[in-house]
Amino acid sequence: MSNTNLLQEFHAYQRKIASKRYVNFLINWDAATEAPKKSMLYRAQMQGELAADQFAYQMDPKNLDLLENVSNRSDIDELDRLSAKKYLKEINKIRNIPQKEYVQSVQNRSIISRVWEEAKQTNDYPLFAPYLDKFLNDVKMALYYRDVKQQDYFDVLLDDNEEGMDSKKYDLFFDTIKAELVPLMKKCLLQGREIDDSLLYAYGSKAKQEEMVRYLADVCYYDLKAGVIKTSVHPFTSSAGTPDDVRFTVRYHENYFTGSLMAAMHEMGHAIHAQQCDPASAGTNLFGGPSAGIAESQSRFNENYIGRSLAFWQTHYSKLQQVYPELLNNVGVTDFWRVLNRIKPTANRLEADELSYPFHIILRYELERGIFSNQISVKELPELWRQKSLEYLGVMPNNDSEGVLQDVHWGGNVGFGYFPTYALGTAYGAQFRAAMLRELEIDQAIRDNRLDRINSWLKEKIHFHCGSKTPEQILLDATGEAFNVRYYIDYLKEKYDMIYFH
Ligand code: ZN
Repeated sequence: MSNTNLLQEFHAYQRKIASKRYVNFLINWDAATEAPKKSMLYRAQMQGELAADQFAYQMDPKNLDLLENVSNRSDIDELDRLSAKKYLKEINKIRNIPQKEYVQSVQNRSIISRVWEEAKQTNDYPLFAPYLDKFLNDVKMALYYRDVKQQDYFDVLLDDNEEGMDSKKYDLFFDTIKAELVPLMKKCLLQGREIDDSLLYAYGSKAKQEEMVRYLADVCYYDLKAGVIKTSVHPFTSSAGTPDDVRFTVRYHENYFTGSLMAAMHEMGHAIHAQQCDPASAGTNLFGGPSAGIAESQSRFNENYIGRSLAFWQTHYSKLQQVYPELLNNVGVTDFWRVLNRIKPTANRLEADELSYPFHIILRYELERGIFSNQISVKELPELWRQKSLEYLGVMPNNDSEGVLQDVHWGGNVGFGYFPTYALGTAYGAQFRAAMLRELEIDQAIRDNRLDRINSWLKEKIHFHCGSKTPEQILLDATGEAFNVRYYIDYLKEKYDMIYFH
């Protein structure tokens, strides 16, 4: 086949897959934001039918040949070849699963995510447990059909989320974090100033929080003409496969008003990443980023390195005071910034300060590893969660809703092996920040209310490249060196010294 014909067929293939993903994107967005509870089973059936169609299309020998051809032809553009290779890589993960079992696992996942919501809202782990078991079985079944040895299950899941990572590398990373951050936390809490954070728990109506989130969307240059903001049980960002439709959700706690603001900053980091992708990648599997770690580096950058910085609040505190005058008019901006950043280990990951955050991740990482080495059963999880929460955070969750049920991931939406990328991404983010500082006055840009300057840097070095580079290559090209955890540790030491000792 001529090069031109082959490419035409390949681009038709990309469009076909994109259209199927688009339908699922809309269904999942609707399920998490608006669909009535009773729609759960019908939706799962429909998603099963769609999955069966897509599976048949992907496994059609003609289409598999097409992908092989494109990925091997040297006279074809590099990006097309890379795209074809990525389709094949994903297909190989499910290729040997009998179609019926595959479709069943898709239906299960659709249901599990809604059961998790219900269980979290009603604090009912026994309701969720059998579904979690089912989900785990489906994940293990897929690994089995991929010919992965049982002792490698967890490492393969880690690599699926962040190419090149395994438990050995994560152990090293987490050991460094423990060795550096535990003494730092102790020093701040025992010798540093006392910070009264009661104002964070004062009543802040949902309407006012929504007003602030809209304001932050403007500040961050999130394009609302190419986006939507809604409410869901767990905040998330989702994109249709084009920079022109990137949506995110927030959840609001009326007794913790900064929670929604920081979560919105996090999600907007993801959203701006997607909105700044090369438009030419729309409708292909290169759209988005290369990995979960790079994705989380962008959300954590916006959340922490911008949203929790003093410069940011020096610029936007007056707006916050306008929205909450009774609460904040007598509090100075530096004091507010200290309160926002105070070290306060809590049971809730999304409310964690920057220092205790990685310990939430270590807790989940250790539990997942135990699950996949068959040392931990679904039944034991709530109790082990409580034990580890006490061990790493010094806090016991009040109930399972605030403990083992708090995150969306094990409820089928994200899956296993993802959590460590939050900590890794945060550390990547600090390295990006250090590189950016060599070229850009970050605080000045923030104070000038010109986050577009920061967005432009991120676009040029990271976002625009979408999935065309590996995480390692992005780090190398953007920062001039391979991943180096020192930037993260140094950033935290400097910041917390300012908060507790100056
Ligand atoms: Zn995220």
